[in-house]
Amino acid sequence: MAVKPILPPAMLGILGGGQLGRMFAVAAKTMGYRVTVLDPDAKAPAADFADVHIARPYNDPDALAELVRTCKAITTEFENVNAESMRWLAGQGVPVSPSGDCVAIAQDRVAEKTFIRNAGLATAPFLPVQTAADLEGDLSAYLPGILKTARLGYDGKGQVRVKTVEEARAALSDLKHQPCVLEKMMPLVAEVSVIVTRTRAGEVTSFPPAENEHANGILDVSIVPARIGAGTTERARQMAMQLAEALDYIGVLAVEFFILDGDELVINEMAPRPHNSGHYTLDATLTSQFEQQVRAMCGLYPGKTDLLRPVVMVNLLGDSWGANGAEPNWDVLLTAPNSKLHLYGKTEARSGRKMGHFNVLADSADAALEQARAIKDMLG
Ligand code: ADP
Ligand code: MG
Repeated sequence: MAVKPILPPAMLGILGGGQLGRMFAVAAKTMGYRVTVLDPDAKAPAADFADVHIARPYNDPDALAELVRTCKAITTEFENVNAESMRWLAGQGVPVSPSGDCVAIAQDRVAEKTFIRNAGLATAPFLPVQTAADLEGDLSAYLPGILKTARLGYDGKGQVRVKTVEEARAALSDLKHQPCVLEKMMPLVAEVSVIVTRTRAGEVTSFPPAENEHANGILDVSIVPARIGAGTTERARQMAMQLAEALDYIGVLAVEFFILDGDELVINEMAPRPHNSGHYTLDATLTSQFEQQVRAMCGLYPGKTDLLRPVVMVNLLGDSWGANGAEPNWDVLLTAPNSKLHLYGKTEARSGRKMGHFNVLADSADAALEQARAIKDMLG
């Protein structure tokens, strides 16, 4: 299928103006595009780099109409955007990627896991839980497990670990009887993620898998190349690309995997957007995940995804700031010539809030990890 590319200086629209929107805007502006950000927050991090910031709600009819009027293509940076808004925008004839349908699937853990299974890919055993009545009988296939809210969970929020049916029922009550999934606790050997891109013309590429370590439910470091076998690496990339094909996806899709004993791979979840675990691509691949999003939504060829150098990405949370918002000791980072600092322009540092990240490039993943940890320790 021939697709007419959307070229600079076309205006691109993005729903959401957090750090992902900010890095998207930088990539788009670097290539000569213009950017309109829709985000109700007057201090949205992406606003610094946007040509136009519409500070209105995501379902505001005037704001959506302005996007249609001014933008040649539209994307999103966060999955809890109103899928209806995205469907409406697409209905007005503007290319919207990913589609509202794909976003709707990724927003709901039941729809997501069901879709993954139907695509012939593995997930952990899971049970949709609508009401307490679903938590009766023999649940041994799902216990010990994790009760997760079907919607709006992130960074480990909205999750309760449970060992028994009684604990699962108590957890459902703690979660205010929202629709949930009960998922079997898996014995994880490691966690990896793959950022895959599918363009308007249907070309699919994937970035090298990142090996992810979490702290308190929040991504802490990503290590690339992941310290897993070549066969497992290739299978993870293939599975992620298969999922993008099955979704008829356009844009950047992040797929999270659990690695189990015997190098078994199961898909944990997906995010219909660039992902924190793909921030290493800002410095260690020719094309970043944000440029890849621009390329996909504009119908350009995908850029090269090969890893140029082993890299470790470290998240900088608000916890690294001092009690009175005192800045970390940036000296140690900015004087290390093989490291790159990325800050998101957020003025208020709160515990657990993603303020920025840094990438360390070295001869091996282990060397990068050792140096990254040393820098983190000295920061604050
Ligand atoms: P979030 O949307 O908050 O990222 P996830 O479903 O990815 O939610 O869960 C967060 C983390 O919790 C995972 O990265 C993993 O470390 C752990 N986890 C989640 N589900 C399971 C499971 N079924 N078995 C073992 N660990 C899990
Ligand atoms: Mg996750």
